[in-house]
Amino acid sequence: MESPAQSIWCSALDSLREVLNPEVYRLWFAPIQPIAMTSDRLSLGVANDFCAVWLGENYRDVIEDALKAASGRQIEFSFIAQDNVQTPLKPNRAKGLPTEPTPPQAPVVVEEASDAISPFDPKNTFESFVVGNNQLAHAAAVAVAQNPGRSYNPLFLIGGVGLGKTHLLHAIGQYVTGNRRSAKVAYVSTERFTNEFIDALQNSRVMRFRKKFRETDVLLIDDIHFLSGKERIQEEFFHTFNALKEARKQIVMTCDRPANEIQGLEHRLVSRFEWGLVADIQPPDIETRLAILRKKSDQMRYALSPDIAQFLAERIRANIRRLEGALTRVASYSRLTGQPITVERVRDLLRDVLSEEGRASLTIDVIIKRVADHFDLRVADILGRRRPDSIAFPRQVAMYLARTLTESSLSTIGEAFGGRDHGTVLHACRAVTDRMETDAGVRKAVHHLDRDLRG
Ligand code: ADP
Ligand code: MG
Repeated sequence: MESPAQSIWCSALDSLREVLNPEVYRLWFAPIQPIAMTSDRLSLGVANDFCAVWLGENYRDVIEDALKAASGRQIEFSFIAQDNVQTPLKPNRAKGLPTEPTPPQAPVVVEEASDAISPFDPKNTFESFVVGNNQLAHAAAVAVAQNPGRSYNPLFLIGGVGLGKTHLLHAIGQYVTGNRRSAKVAYVSTERFTNEFIDALQNSRVMRFRKKFRETDVLLIDDIHFLSGKERIQEEFFHTFNALKEARKQIVMTCDRPANEIQGLEHRLVSRFEWGLVADIQPPDIETRLAILRKKSDQMRYALSPDIAQFLAERIRANIRRLEGALTRVASYSRLTGQPITVERVRDLLRDVLSEEGRASLTIDVIIKRVADHFDLRVADILGRRRPDSIAFPRQVAMYLARTLTESSLSTIGEAFGGRDHGTVLHACRAVTDRMETDAGVRKAVHHLDRDLRG
């Protein structure tokens, strides 16, 4: 009989076959093996880390769409390197390259039991977490895991993308389940909490939904910023929170920003989120980044040379997931080719990652300064209220670049430009786009600044 993983993957393949070039399909997609399907995550077996990285970076959206078409819902997926999957890259013996890349150990795949809320990733434990400059968040997580409901309740962890929020939640979960077999631990993303609630409403199973979450000893709820603007879910979560807190059950939440910065979050939730301990997860400093690279390369059994480690740690600063991805790519490349790897090669291999990283570290202030210099103005002119075209236009260009080169929202940009509103920024972006279309000189200037800022 076909497993759920097989059946969903087979129908996804039907649509992939239609959109992909046949050669790409044959090389990369045909060998993929569906391994396991939990309620919202599919694990796919591929030949090695390199395939995993390659497929993830180049075909993630296509696969996501195909899975959505096949199942009618959003399904997360991950690749797992397995040694029984055929490798798409034929090793070139003539050139003396190794015949097989060494496959890493396949992680355990936990098939979700029908009533379990979610399995933990066995890789995300306290042991594998590099504390570095995050002593507070780490210590708080350990304290909560050792004494759930008794130390900090709730524990509210704040951190940007890829800085280890989910890792810490999984670590707490695995610590508790490992030490107290009877403890009921639930890990759930806020998105999933939302979907399950809607589902329960539609199928008259609200009581069951409530019971499931309110009877846990430890509720680990990820990415709480997802509650933004969702009143009905906030209401439900408010009651779940109160029930757990009252029963002295532990709640741990993660969020990408402070609670009072979540747009459209009820005040009573904001204040509750701050009742216990709020701990920031900081971006890793250089020593931490080096330590993470050392730890991860040891785990992969890859001998990372100190100069490459230094290069990666210096260039990839903002996101540990990205740092990890870069290391995997370097390691896979060097295993597949068997060639010694140089900084030049790494630069080439990671061109996209490095340019993304440059973009991420660019701030609005830097853009303003650079634009002011270019047009021979002072920063104060750009931020000020004066309107002659010689100032107003550079100001609009700076807003346009802030919009295209950073991930900031219109209102954040407006704020950074001396407290203007988001409509002004939107108008500036349109004005610059229009002028670039009709005026080659403007186009050239903007492109020049854009290239310059991207580094
Ligand atoms: P977030 O949930 O904050 O977006 P994740 O917890 O998913 O980030 O972390 C992204 C990746 O980086 C994961 O593979 C995680 O194991 C790894 N990671 C993050 N922080 C650390 C750390 N301090 N030590 C080791 N690995 C880390
Ligand atoms: Mg996460």
